[in-house]
Amino acid sequence: MPKYPWQPYSPLRTHDFDDGVFVDGPQPGNLFVCRNCNRRFKFDSAAHKTWAVGKGRTYFALHDSVSSRWITQPCSGSPNEQDEEDSKRVKPRLMNAAQKLKRSA
Ligand SMILES: [Zn+2]
Repeated sequence: MPKYPWQPYSPLRTHDFDDGVFVDGPQPGNLFVCRNCNRRFKFDSAAHKTWAVGKGRTYFALHDSVSSRWITQPCSGSPNEQDEEDSKRVKPRLMNAAQKLKRSA
């Protein structure tokens, strides 16, 4: 029986996660932090979606390119500088159409 909600073949299974803690907010989900490499992921059990998140209390979603890379890479076994930089690359908040028009004007 899989310990974590993601697929058994997933590279995410190579991480040594703490038990997922539910984190509320604009992007609610269970937070999983790897004890070895410190990568953080959120899992939305309703949508069955996993994404990488940054540090701090907010745990904002990281940029899609970072998220998809983190999800497809097996655990490196220890924290590294690249991950440290990646975890600062928070996904830009969505702008609404009006704001976009204003910016390009
Ligand atoms: Zn790991």
